Amino acid sequence: DQKKTAPQTSGRQDQATVLYPEPVSHFDNLGPRYRISKALLRNIKDNGYTTTTEVQLGALPLLLGSRADVLTQGAVKTDEEASVLDVDLLSIAPTGSGKTLAFMIPLIHALVLSRRSQTISGPQAIILAPTKELASQIANEGRKLALNTAIRITNVRKGMHIDSDQSSDQDASSKDVPPVKADILVSTPAALRNAIGDVRTSSRALSQIRFLVLDEADVLLDPLFRDQTLAVWNALSNPDLRLGFWSATMGSSIEELVKATIKSRAEKLSGIGPS
Ligand code: ADP
Ligand code: MG
Repeated sequence: DQKKTAPQTSGRQDQATVLYPEPVSHFDNLGPRYRISKALLRNIKDNGYTTTTEVQLGALPLLLGSRADVLTQGAVKTDEEASVLDVDLLSIAPTGSGKTLAFMIPLIHALVLSRRSQTISGPQAIILAPTKELASQIANEGRKLALNTAIRITNVRKGMHIDSDQSSDQDASSKDVPPVKADILVSTPAALRNAIGDVRTSSRALSQIRFLVLDEADVLLDPLFRDQTLAVWNALSNPDLRLGFWSATMGSSIEELVKATIKSRAEKLSGIGPS
């Protein structure tokens, strides 16, 4: 009987497919494959990006369509199928290899998609970077990519407080620093911890955070920054929080922490580990 010798389609094989979606060599190919918004595609083009770098080639398909690639073999037809950023990711690639774009494009895309399907109040993503300069650069790069997408990106500074009610604009005339109204917060751990500690920032303000990106994760998790980084991380209450670690180098102790975190989350999600 031919049937008996045919390879079994098991959950295990599906998982292997999730891990290796087709690489993407040109940004143009993202549109048809992942239903990327026209504005985002245009911004990528207008900023002069045509071919992907090595880290983008692999990371973009993982972050944009891990689920969709499995369900539809690459052709995403509905927003639901385009359900994105379904993975935690540790990415190690050299300085100058284009890591910012590799996490920023999927983040903006994910927020554009969720914006289409639900009313959102409060920021949904945090990008942490070790220095103010780096955070500011990331925010600037992000704003260029988010032009005309309605996704707001704010570089968090000391003294800012974060508002959970993003709909009201009435604070603008206050002589105090107005509350941050943003979808993506880019910050140093210290500035964000400061904002979280602000009495005006309710704990609800960060309850909508679904994505935490650690840029230069090796630095953010080294002894100098680690406590501050973990303070921010621990303040995020969303059980579905997705993590992205990006680094040029990764020390062994950091690698272990990241792997342990990703593993325990994966086990929790698949129901095989302790909950
Ligand atoms: P990393 O974070 O890996 O050190 P960056 O994200 O800062 O690298 O990118 C380094 C430079 O490469 C930036 O000036 C960025 O605009 C540029 N860059 C990124 N991706 C591409 C691409 N696909 N094509 C051309 N230039 C790119
Ligand atoms: Mg970088």
